[in-house]
Amino acid sequence: MAPQPPVRTHVTIGGEFGGKRNHRGLDLFALRGMPVHASFFGRVLEVGFSDTYGHYVIVKHRSLRKVKRKTLYGHLDTVTTKVGRYVNSNSTIGGAGDSGEATGVHLHFGTYENERAVDPLTWITL
Ligand SMILES: [Zn+2]
Repeated sequence: MAPQPPVRTHVTIGGEFGGKRNHRGLDLFALRGMPVHASFFGRVLEVGFSDTYGHYVIVKHRSLRKVKRKTLYGHLDTVTTKVGRYVNSNSTIGGAGDSGEATGVHLHFGTYENERAVDPLTWITL
């Protein structure tokens, strides 16, 4: 299954990848508590809190042509998964929020190839 957008209803982009602030992900507007899904099959590698991303979840995915892949979900209001849990695009891993450095409720979605941030829009279509 191809990677899916982590929020599914009324998906609008609030901030693109790169730009002047070297944004390392894609911001998707959401309503508080709106379910945040894993993008595709993987295993929860990390659940934590950082000043920047607030409550976040990192999922590790199967490598594709030897490229290691991870996804990050930030600014969550709640986290409803645990490290080690297997997830797929039907799994809810938390609810959208504005924890950390967030202006307004949105999901920060980060995609990583071999630990390097890449534009999520090269993985998903909205
Ligand atoms: Zn962001």
